[in-house]
Amino acid sequence: MYNINLDGRTVLITGGSRGIGASCVELFAKAGADIAFTYKNNEEAAAQLVSRYNFEIRIKSYRVNIESADEIERCVRSIKREFGRIDVLINNAGIWKSGKIEEINLEDWNETININLAGVFLFTRFVVPIMKENRSGRIINIASTAGQRGEPYYAHYAASKGGVISMTKSLAVELAPFGIHTNCIAPGWVYTDMTSRELDDEKMGKKIKDYIPLGRAAYPEEIAGPALFLSSSLADHINGEILNVNGGSELCG
Ligand code: NAD
Repeated sequence: MYNINLDGRTVLITGGSRGIGASCVELFAKAGADIAFTYKNNEEAAAQLVSRYNFEIRIKSYRVNIESADEIERCVRSIKREFGRIDVLINNAGIWKSGKIEEINLEDWNETININLAGVFLFTRFVVPIMKENRSGRIINIASTAGQRGEPYYAHYAASKGGVISMTKSLAVELAPFGIHTNCIAPGWVYTDMTSRELDDEKMGKKIKDYIPLGRAAYPEEIAGPALFLSSSLADHINGEILNVNGGSELCG
């Protein structure tokens, strides 16, 4: 059996204190990687994750508001100083807020674009010089099916994730000569705090599951697994790919 081993690699995971990000922290820790992860407010959850793994690997959490370019730059600089390298960047943090188009105001629009799209740009922009120094790296962006087929009542969210997909394809070509691979995971429905209200609602939950051929939403570790695969040598020739993890839901259009 082939075990993915990331011994000696440093992984930066944004939004690592819960949901898909926390599952990434757990899985990458089991694969032996050193881990730097960001969180916004939940210091307790971040501290618990650190204490669970800090006997096995180097792991540290960083409080960052992704709406602040200065905080992102300071965070990446600290990680470089403290860990010496960044081999894998998982751009995971994001928000998902609903609204009819005529009710979304510019502030709502900017908040979603700033966190979901500019946040990915900024982390990538500050991490790439470190990866270029090593002439190797893996960038994995967490997009969404919404970025491919759109999502009614979430136009700003869908636009931000569509932007992440286009940015991934652009960087895959731009950064390949430096040994840096850029890929994307586009999850469908995943059970996390982000979606629990919809998935736990009897009527809506049933409607969602009925349209997923596998009959259920993904668990967060089922997104972390593909992220680990894309970070490993098993994915040495994968670049610019949008990996759909959606239980077989059809993407129309
Ligand atoms: P989640 O709400 O549990 O986690 C989101 C993370 O982003 C949290 O750690 C949060 O602190 C962080 N974050 C949000 N705003 C931030 C800010 N301003 N500054 C710093 N951190 C901030 O949700 P999740 O389901 O784990 O989502 C992770 C990613 O997966 C998101 O990009 C989301 O869009 C994407 N996604 C989720 C689903 C789903 O069904 N859950 C589907 C498709 C894509």
